Amino acid sequence: MARPAIDLAALELHELVSFVESLGYRPFHAKQVYRWIWKRGVSDFAQMTDLSRELRAALVESATVSVADVVAHDTSVDGTQKFVLRLADGKHIESVFIPDTPAQTFCVSTQVGCAMACAFCLTGKMGLVRNLSAAEITSQVRLLAGSLELLDKSFNIVLMGMGEPLHNYDATMKALRMLNEKEGLALHPKRITLSTVGLVPMMDKLAQEPLMPNLAVSLHAATEETRATIVPLNKKYSMQDVVDACKRFPLKKRSRIMFEYVMLAGINDSPQDARRLVKVLAGVKAKVNLLPLNEAPGIPFERPSDESINTFAKILADRGMAVSVRKSRGRDIRAACGQLIVEGQSGRKPAVQKAGAEP
Ligand code: SAH
Repeated sequence: MARPAIDLAALELHELVSFVESLGYRPFHAKQVYRWIWKRGVSDFAQMTDLSRELRAALVESATVSVADVVAHDTSVDGTQKFVLRLADGKHIESVFIPDTPAQTFCVSTQVGCAMACAFCLTGKMGLVRNLSAAEITSQVRLLAGSLELLDKSFNIVLMGMGEPLHNYDATMKALRMLNEKEGLALHPKRITLSTVGLVPMMDKLAQEPLMPNLAVSLHAATEETRATIVPLNKKYSMQDVVDACKRFPLKKRSRIMFEYVMLAGINDSPQDARRLVKVLAGVKAKVNLLPLNEAPGIPFERPSDESINTFAKILADRGMAVSVRKSRGRDIRAACGQLIVEGQSGRKPAVQKAGAEP
């Protein structure tokens, strides 16, 4: 009986070496195949022209290179592009290309949906449907880089699409190793930013990794009480636990942790919150990125005025804190932060609505 075809786009180079050796070929051939898949974005063995006819035939017999299907592709007035991808089991995820910020950036998903249920995030409303495999995480990069003709250009990756990357730890780390492989895209870890809502044990685990991406932490508040009302995980790992984990996180010279702070009118945007935030982050090598809320139906919050955002930013800056305000990109195509959701695939049973939780 024929063995099921193995997906070569799911393998790290050392795994591909073992596979190619099992077919009677040499590690050198695995490097060639890896280059075709990752450097040139080729998934059809017939096009891998520097492989022998015999090896190509053996690969056709026993292997595939999975490619996600693009089911929708929208371009925003600001140049942001959103790709909706269909996975092998029919589930959908979204990936976003943000041009020139100043580098080209791909915003990649790590899960279908998300279990963290942050109160202002549309993806959080879906609940967790399932984890993505390393192949599914990396295939977003291969697909975007291939279709935008950026395979041989430099670009950045932010793990800020759907999902909580540290809640899908092993697949995320495997994906980082696959992207870093020098026979492939050779993406330097400093080009990758991993954003977490603050899964403290996994932050400590990440601190031990040989391949260390930049770290972004979704803080969103300056008091435990406020954070607990908008980030349910705060009940398990408090803001102080998260900040302590940041203090012990190993950072290279000149690098800093980026703290994301979604700005919600009347909730966390007062001058007093700004002053408290400076205190909370004292002793952390930090920069703060303010994210004015991207409003959406079903999200029971409002974006503060530009004036209160600027006042907040100025208070931080005046106290010596590096601060930036994230320019929202792709809102017209629902590609902005917290707007990634694919209709009709909720992982959560319809909840009984709490009074006041919905508009
Ligand atoms: N799970 C990871 C990645 C989430 S997406 C994390 O929590 O960090 C990246 C950022 O977008 C997070 O800081 C998230 O809180 C923020 N975000 C979510 N919904 C948003 C919204 N509606 N408006 C602005 N930012 C939002």
